[in-house]
Amino acid sequence: MKGFLLLSAIACLVAGCCSPRPLISLLPEEIKAAPPLASSGSFELVHCPPGVPHRSVLQEVERTFHAVHSLLGTPARARLVRIALFTPNEPTGRHILRARCSRDEHAAFMNFREGWIVVVGDWEKTRAHTDLRHETAHQALCALTPDRFPPFWLSEGIATLFESGADDNGRPKPNPPRRRNAARLVGWRRRIRLSGLIDRHRPAYINADAYARSWALTIHLAQNNPHALRHFLKVWQSKNLSPGETFVQTVLADTQLEQLEQAVSTTMR
Ligand SMILES: [Zn+2]
Repeated sequence: MKGFLLLSAIACLVAGCCSPRPLISLLPEEIKAAPPLASSGSFELVHCPPGVPHRSVLQEVERTFHAVHSLLGTPARARLVRIALFTPNEPTGRHILRARCSRDEHAAFMNFREGWIVVVGDWEKTRAHTDLRHETAHQALCALTPDRFPPFWLSEGIATLFESGADDNGRPKPNPPRRRNAARLVGWRRRIRLSGLIDRHRPAYINADAYARSWALTIHLAQNNPHALRHFLKVWQSKNLSPGETFVQTVLADTQLEQLEQAVSTTMR
C-alpha cells in the first residue's frame, strides 16, 4: 500500500495524461445511457463488476458524501451522481487505463458538471475502494461550491482525508500510510511551507510534495479549526477573492502564517 496513495492522488489530478479529450468521453454512450442497477439518495450505480455488492457501494458513497458535508456544510440542492465501476479486464476499464497511462491497473476520476464517478481497479483489494471514496469526497466538496471549483489544497486535502471513510459520527478516519507518507515528505524538522499552496488556485508544481502539504493543512484544520474550513468555503463561493485573499480573510485572521505553518507541522509529527 505504501506510496501508491500519493501516486494515485497525483494520477487523479493529472487528467488524461495521454489524451487531451475530457475524461468523461472515455465512457461509452451505452454506459452513459444505461438504466441504474441500483440507486440510493443522490447516487445511481450504472455499471458494476460481478461480485461487487451494489448495496455496499452505495452505502460507502452515501456515507462518505454525508461525512464531507457533516464537516463542511450542506449544499443548497442535491444533484444526481452516477457511478460506473470497472475491472482492468473489461474493455472500457482497459480503455480508461490506457488513456490515463496507468501502469498499475487502476484509475479514477470524477466529473462534477455531468455528475459522474468512474473507478477502474481490482475490487477485491483496498485500493479500488479507497479511490471510490476519494472521488466521492471530490464530488461532495464540489457540490458545496458548484459555481467555483475549490482550490487544489482543499480539494485534494478533503478527498484524501475521507479516502479511508468516516466513523459512525461522520468524522474522517485519516489513512495511516498516507499520514506517514505526508509526514515524511513534509519533513520532520523543518516547517511546512504553505505559501505557494494557499495563495494560488493550483500550485506551480503539482507533485507529491504539493499533495502532502495539502493533506497536512487540511487534516490540521479539520482537527483543530473546522469552522475555518466552513467559513473559507462560504467566502470562496460568495466573493470573487483570490485563493490567497480568501485564505487570509477566513483562516489566518490574526494568526501569522509562520504560526500556522508551525502548528500544521506539529499536527503531522
Ligand atoms: Zn483527487
